[in-house]
Amino acid sequence: MRLFDTRTRERVEVGAGPTVGLYVCGITPYDSAHLGHAFVYTVFDALVRYLEHQGRRVRYARNVTDVDDDILRKAAELDTDYLELGRREVARFDRDLDGLGLRRPDVVPLATETVPAIVDAVRTLIERGNAYALPDGRVYFDVATAPAFGALSRLTQERMLAQFAEKGGDPDAPGKRQRLDFLLWQPSAGGEPGWPGPVDGLGLGRPGWHIECSVMALRELGPVVGVHGGGDDLIFPHHEAEIVQSEHLTGRAPFARIWMHAGLVSLGGTKMSKSLGNLVFLSDLLERYEGAAVRRYLLSHHYREGWEFDDAALADAAVGLKRWRGAAGAEGQRPDLELAFHQALADDLDTPGALAALDEAAAAGAGGTVRTLADVLGFALPG
Ligand SMILES: [Zn+2]
Repeated sequence: MRLFDTRTRERVEVGAGPTVGLYVCGITPYDSAHLGHAFVYTVFDALVRYLEHQGRRVRYARNVTDVDDDILRKAAELDTDYLELGRREVARFDRDLDGLGLRRPDVVPLATETVPAIVDAVRTLIERGNAYALPDGRVYFDVATAPAFGALSRLTQERMLAQFAEKGGDPDAPGKRQRLDFLLWQPSAGGEPGWPGPVDGLGLGRPGWHIECSVMALRELGPVVGVHGGGDDLIFPHHEAEIVQSEHLTGRAPFARIWMHAGLVSLGGTKMSKSLGNLVFLSDLLERYEGAAVRRYLLSHHYREGWEFDDAALADAAVGLKRWRGAAGAEGQRPDLELAFHQALADDLDTPGALAALDEAAAAGAGGTVRTLADVLGFALPG
């Protein structure tokens, strides 16, 4: 199976070892899962199922960012403990994704449970000269020591700075060596949770988001991750930062053999985002449709392309699912369509191509083929 690798812009064969390590950036649990989340995790669910169908073992890790600015702010608003809020939101998220029919990852590391290892990693980066501590307890990665920074996104310096500022970076914070240097560790404000940091005597602090993912991925999957995934919006700076941190920690490159990014979902012509409020919540869709219908709808889009939510297309997907079920009672086989289905998935997880082969088998009354192929993607049809 080949996948398009964001870093090299080439289709790369998924590594040949017996186990494929897959790391997908997970949620910050402070709000409901929307269709953008559902799409990303459905794409990686399909990848896992297809690789396993091919006889590969997959070790799938998806982290939880259970301490960060958003979750602390929301917990304060609700007058709730942030860990309690996180547990509640993770349970809700799991329920939504279970409803969609996604399999759970093999490991779900929590940032808060990884802090000692993160502190060690930050200390190592300081010792090696890739990071520096400021007197107020902030620690930054020095991007001037890492020429690879920017190689994933291929953005110009100007675009990097714009996106950095837009996505919560601090280009103009005092004391930094370069404006693109990103936080590895920050002092905890009064009342915030804090841990002893990488530099003695600088008070309690908490990790930056990027280093959390590097450390969790390395711990769960080793120094070279087979496939690292997430939504397109994580390419810069999050994944760019993960690469330079990880490669300087391990001395090995590339950190990820394949970077796989899913396109973003829009509503009303604009990317769904919490700040704009143009969200479609998964739980609302699951009240109107069964999970398999929503999943079929999500898989009708190629993972690399952004797309616009369309209620009528979702209704069509539910009808299409009924057609599969209607056809599944018959016995016919269509080897040509089975081949087309597998060729589509093996070539960069072309799920629309795979679903087209399934639809054609259903239209032709080839029930045996419909059952076999639907099963690969985790749609259980009555035989
Ligand atoms: Zn991440």
